[in-house]
Amino acid sequence: MKKTHNTVQIGDMQVGGPEFVVIAGPCSVESREQFLKTSQWVKEQGAKALRGGLFKLRTDPSTFQGLGQDAFKLAQEVKAEVGLPFISEITDPRQVGDFENIVDAYQVGSRNMHNYALLKELGQTRKPILLKRGLAALYKEWILAAEHIAKSGNEQVILCERGIRTFETSTRNTFDLNSVALAKRDTSFPVLADPSHGTGDSSLVAPMALAAAAAGADGLLIEVHPEPVNALSDGFQSLNFPQFKELMERLRHLLPALGRGQ
Ligand code: PEP
Ligand code: MN
Repeated sequence: MKKTHNTVQIGDMQVGGPEFVVIAGPCSVESREQFLKTSQWVKEQGAKALRGGLFKLRTDPSTFQGLGQDAFKLAQEVKAEVGLPFISEITDPRQVGDFENIVDAYQVGSRNMHNYALLKELGQTRKPILLKRGLAALYKEWILAAEHIAKSGNEQVILCERGIRTFETSTRNTFDLNSVALAKRDTSFPVLADPSHGTGDSSLVAPMALAAAAAGADGLLIEVHPEPVNALSDGFQSLNFPQFKELMERLRHLLPALGRGQ
């Protein structure tokens, strides 16, 4: 059992330190305007980093798969204009070269948590890795996946609980806050929580975000969209602007009671 707690630096944001951090943005980058508007809004509300998918691994091949390379330039421009670090999912080891100039941290998605070739490749990079839990991965498998990256040479790993598939179908996933508290107790990795995928329902995101903070998470990954009904992916679980603002206000009230700053 480890007692030390690592911190991981992504640009100006420290994850795993005293400050509770919120990373927010759209599920997918859809256009310059959509990404810029969302990024500016989440920054104004206190988010410390941006998220936005470029390559999307969707279950249904007939749905939007992300703008891919076509969005590299706009992502760089928006990042520079807004001035926050940017995190995006890498889906293939061959993307490392391109991603290096675009992201401040690589996200490994749930569907790739067991992709050891990708994990080992990312172990050779010098940027932080946000490792989502596999949608049907045991807690132990998730931690071992993080250790694959660390053992390959990159110890800047951040765990992210995003819900698992269980017999329960009332929500998209079962958000496993046990694993957040367990990972904080037993590992040295910082731990984030993603209540957007964890619940799959925008009206449940705020309560579970607050619960994750209370369970000891170091921060949150939240999907936000200017018009969730028109989103090209995950609109049903994306917060609109007023909802995100309200969540940030509620966090500002809760965090002092938990002994955390923001
Ligand atoms: C995402 O963050 O948009 C995403 C695809 O997440 P996950 O890999 O957890 O499904
Ligand atoms: Mn998503």
